[in-house]
Amino acid sequence: AASPVMENEITSVTSVSATGLPRTAVVGVLGGGQLGRMMALAAANLGVRLKCLDPAPDAPAAVVAEHVQGHFRDAAAIEDFVKSQGVDVLTMEIEHINTDALMQAAADVQVDIEPSPATIRVIQDKFAQKQHFEAHGVPLPQFRNIKCRGCMEATGKAFGYPFMLKAKRLAYDGRGNYVVRSESELDAAAAALGGYEAGLYAERFAPFVKELAVMVVRSRDGKVVSYPVVETIHKDNICHVTEAPADVPPAVQAQAREVAEKAISCLEGAGIFGVEMFLLGDGSLLLNEVAPRPHNSGHYTQDGCLTSQFENHVRAVLGWPLGDTRLTAGCAIMLNLLGEADGEEGVRRAHEVMGRAYATPGCKVHWYGKEGMKVGRKVGHINILAPSREEARAKLGSLDPSGLAALQ
Ligand code: ATP
Ligand code: MG
Ligand code: MG
Repeated sequence: AASPVMENEITSVTSVSATGLPRTAVVGVLGGGQLGRMMALAAANLGVRLKCLDPAPDAPAAVVAEHVQGHFRDAAAIEDFVKSQGVDVLTMEIEHINTDALMQAAADVQVDIEPSPATIRVIQDKFAQKQHFEAHGVPLPQFRNIKCRGCMEATGKAFGYPFMLKAKRLAYDGRGNYVVRSESELDAAAAALGGYEAGLYAERFAPFVKELAVMVVRSRDGKVVSYPVVETIHKDNICHVTEAPADVPPAVQAQAREVAEKAISCLEGAGIFGVEMFLLGDGSLLLNEVAPRPHNSGHYTQDGCLTSQFENHVRAVLGWPLGDTRLTAGCAIMLNLLGEADGEEGVRRAHEVMGRAYATPGCKVHWYGKEGMKVGRKVGHINILAPSREEARAKLGSLDPSGLAALQ
């Protein structure tokens, strides 16, 4: 039989952590897509139970997390989820949630929400997000509210052409953006984004030489820690390839991490954040946007860093110490597996790339197990690790020549 001392030791380890949260904490996640799925895998390694709320019966996270079917925009569904599942901390894998419902649920069932609903509210409205960062001195492309045809004309005169017209809300993968190339496109651009009532704003076109991204994790007490800087390459507005560290001078890397840390320092709540930036020809940086959750540009951290973005998110929301963000390889490239065709043909082509990756040393395959294949759909990714940039790029070239061409 165990001695009383042993029992006490076990009790002290399993009951309460240094932060007061139970070690056996249940993390509830709004949304059960691939981000929730990878969060669940990381949580399981820490002995943390993760449960997700998602309306889809075949949510990708359901295979590895406890899945409750219900909508993450519905206050009653959120409240029921928190109460019936014993959720200690509620977090999310998607920012397009109903923050009123979230605040209502928080008030009714007394659950801790990380990052805070106020942060989600600011971020999910891209115009409000820009105003927030401007007020805190974060460098941004010039922007202005668009309420009418007259504002559009004035913007064309002030910013010149092309300028970016963006929907304030519900944007992703470039849906919600329109590059306005001349005055003759003003009406078509506004109409394409749902008209002026939908909520539009404009940004000056940033003549970037590269797009960079930095993951930043924020602890409950407001400490921020950044990850290495990555270059992101998009294909049809969807993340295609990322390379870490980005092939930019050390001073630019330091500056990018500084801008990213500054942006996340002026938000509330704990968790991982993705920060997208533009690098201009003169070496200066402008913030594009922030995501309050794990981000595609941070997938390389799963195999390329000591602590993945998913593990650090779980640690952060639970109030645990944050993990080391350093790279463990000289270079880490991530190749997204995007549907290249609908149905079986798309599956066949993705499997071809995966097959080559399985046979290539230094490659790690991540497959999301989604039902159904569609053009442009994110169905998996491959992390490529090598001691040097040249070696990592050579491996990328053998998997996806177009990805390599885009990086060079
Ligand atoms: P995500 O899927 O990253 O959430 P999104 O739909 O929110 O994308 P943005 O990040 O606003 O869209 O823009 C998508 C892409 O369009 C950027 O990565 C960049 O390539 C380009 N872009 C956006 N804003 C500007 C700008 N002001 N100047 C130049 N290019 C821009
Ligand atoms: Mg976005
Ligand atoms: Mg973006």
